[in-house]
Amino acid sequence: MNSSEAIFTVDVEEYFQAENIQDSLSKQKIASLPSRVEIGTRKLLDLLAHHGGTATFFVLGCVAEKHPCLIKDIVQAGHEVASHGYEHIPLHKHTPTSFDADLSRSIKILGDITGQTIIGYRATSFSIAPNMEWFFSVLKKNGIVYDSSLSLSLFRKNYRSLWSDILSSQKNLGILEFPPSYINLGFIRLPIGGGYFRAYPYWLTKYGLSQSIAQRRTPPLFYIHPWELDPSQPRFSLSPFNLMRHYMGLSSTETKLKRLFSNIEFASIRKYIMSQHYYA
Ligand SMILES: [Zn+2]
Repeated sequence: MNSSEAIFTVDVEEYFQAENIQDSLSKQKIASLPSRVEIGTRKLLDLLAHHGGTATFFVLGCVAEKHPCLIKDIVQAGHEVASHGYEHIPLHKHTPTSFDADLSRSIKILGDITGQTIIGYRATSFSIAPNMEWFFSVLKKNGIVYDSSLSLSLFRKNYRSLWSDILSSQKNLGILEFPPSYINLGFIRLPIGGGYFRAYPYWLTKYGLSQSIAQRRTPPLFYIHPWELDPSQPRFSLSPFNLMRHYMGLSSTETKLKRLFSNIEFASIRKYIMSQHYYA
C-alpha cells in the first residue's frame, strides 16, 4: 500500500435497520419489509471492482444468515468481512453478557460463511460511550484485533475525552482503534462519511480525507451504508430531522462515490494493518 491510500468501510445492514428509522416503525411492520441490502452492496462491489480498491465490510450476523452468497462474493472480490454484531443494537442497550452473546454469534456466522478469521468490529451507530472497559474485554475475549466504534458526530460532545480514553492501552487492552476521519477547519471539526457525505458538497469530504492522508493524525477512513446507494427504497414518515438524516442526497451518493474512487485509492483495514506491520 502506498502512502496516498485511505481506508474504505461499509456497514452492511438493511435500510430499515438504521437507528433513525427504529422509533417510527413497529417490529411487526419491520418484519414485513422487503430486503434490499443486496442492491446497495452490489453497487459498492461494482464500484470497487471498477476502480481497483478494497474495503472492509462490517456485516450484521442477521444479514449474513439471510444473504450468505452476498457475503461470499464480498470475500471472493478480495475484501475484508468484519463484524457489525448480530443484531443492530447500540452498545448502551447491551449488558456485557448480552454483548458477548451477540458478538460471538456474529463471529461464528461470519467465520463459517467466509472461512476467514474475523478480526474487526464496529458497534451500531458508533455507540461507544464513557466507562465501557467491559466492551474492550469482550472484544479481546472474542479475538478482535481492531475496533472502529468511535466517530466524531455533530451531536456528540465527549469525542475528545472518549478518544484519549480509548487510546489508553490499559483500558483498550491493546486493541487498535480505527475512527472515521474528520475535517479540521480550524474553528470546527466536521465528521466524514455516511449522511455527512450525502449532505456536504463533494469537495468538502475530498478536502477532509486529503487532509487526513497528508497529516496522518489517524488512518484516513471513510464509511458508507448500502442503503445510501438505494434511492428507490420504501419511504417512511419520520420526524423532519430523521427525514433529512435518512433521505437527504440519496440520489447523488453513487455519483459522488465515483468521484471519490477516482481521486483516492482505498484499502481494507486488514490490508492497512498488514502494510503497517501491526498484525501478521
Ligand atoms: Zn449500523
